[in-house]
Amino acid sequence: MSKNTFHLVSLGCAKNTVDSDSMAQLLLRDGYRAAADPDKATVLIVNTCGFIGSAKEESYKVLGELAQAKRKGQVLIAAGCLTQRYGVEVAQKVPGVDGILGTRRWMDVVQVVRKLRSLTGSSELHPEPVYHLPEAATVGSDEKDTLRVSVAGASAYLKVADGCRRPCAFCAIPLIKGTAISRPVEKIINEARVLRDSGVRELVLIAQDTTDYGSDLGMKDGLAVLLEHLTVSVPDIDWIRIMYSYPGYVTDRLIEVMATRKQVLPYLDIPLQHAHPKTLKRMKRPSNIGWVYKTLAKMRSTIPDLSIRTTFIVGYPGETDEEYQALYDFVNEIRFDRVGAFQFSFEPGTTSSPLGDPVPSEVKQERYERLMELQQNISLQINQSLVGRTLDVLVEGFDNGISIGRSYRDAPEIDGVVLVEGKAKVGEIVPTKITGALAYDLTGVLARKVIKL
Ligand code: SF4
Repeated sequence: MSKNTFHLVSLGCAKNTVDSDSMAQLLLRDGYRAAADPDKATVLIVNTCGFIGSAKEESYKVLGELAQAKRKGQVLIAAGCLTQRYGVEVAQKVPGVDGILGTRRWMDVVQVVRKLRSLTGSSELHPEPVYHLPEAATVGSDEKDTLRVSVAGASAYLKVADGCRRPCAFCAIPLIKGTAISRPVEKIINEARVLRDSGVRELVLIAQDTTDYGSDLGMKDGLAVLLEHLTVSVPDIDWIRIMYSYPGYVTDRLIEVMATRKQVLPYLDIPLQHAHPKTLKRMKRPSNIGWVYKTLAKMRSTIPDLSIRTTFIVGYPGETDEEYQALYDFVNEIRFDRVGAFQFSFEPGTTSSPLGDPVPSEVKQERYERLMELQQNISLQINQSLVGRTLDVLVEGFDNGISIGRSYRDAPEIDGVVLVEGKAKVGEIVPTKITGALAYDLTGVLARKVIKL
């Protein structure tokens, strides 16, 4: 175990992945080296997720395993959303955690490591963990010149804002992160340039709510404005993908930018959470389903080949058979390209907690399975309609004679892939003739004549 080494485990969403990468940048800058093997590291860090039940369980499990295996001279830090939300409770539940660092002050990781290392060898003297949960209303914007990005091959997440001001009753994010803080346009453009120069072809813009970008900076239509700046300032980034938009804030200007700026992919992730106005009202979510129909229709008529991803919650308190059927019929009618579904997770401290969790788990499970089965058929039919088309595919791997990549319809980690016969260079965008369809994935062959280098 060499002296200044760290092993960082990143759990949860892409926004947490960016925080993990930023903490790693600060540790590397402070002379630490990353260790893939926890046994070889003096500093162990878990950037936890505290969003819903299953994610919390996973965070505790990973922390517990590292605490169990921890050796003399090693320190274990629990960082991220679980610690921001539960602080002391995390240390009580996982003896062996030496440091608690909240997600709002991820940028203080070096300070916490130094404090702990100065105590190492005397933990007997200091049974209490070091808590770093300073009063902070929001996620800090003193980013210490870190790049707020996370690169995977030729694709990169770029965080444009953090925190959220929406009132969704089931969601703990505002409790964890505080209200929405947008990052300055210049910083985002600089990072896009750095990414471009490092060979990145796809920018995946992330925040809790990208459509709220700039509202705290006094910008109107901030996301559309940001995209206009990005496409002008970094014209040679091939793909720009928008994740996590909020219903009611997909404006005409944003639709126009998506329709006219070639780099902005005809792809939109817009979690709707439900489709019955009564359920949406209880969720404190925009309940004007008419707006959803109108806006999706407008987007589909304005943006050719638009691919829409959404997310739903089943089993929300009070969800009747009739309300669930309305959701089911809505999904059947709209025919989304991608659907993610969650079973309602009771989250203490959220505004929905007084409603309890009355829908039996077997009912939630049954509703979840029916919805995903419906979507699987829809996804297969949509994929079958693409056979014969030629799609650009960003190649991300090669295995057994098959190049594996994603088309504009596939966001990293959560959507499908395209399995391309033949060898193409990882990081290349290659025109691919689609020859086959699976429920979520496509197969194809290289449309050799126009390989883009
Ligand atoms: S928009 Fe709603 S669901 Fe999404 S992070 Fe904000 S409060 Fe949570």
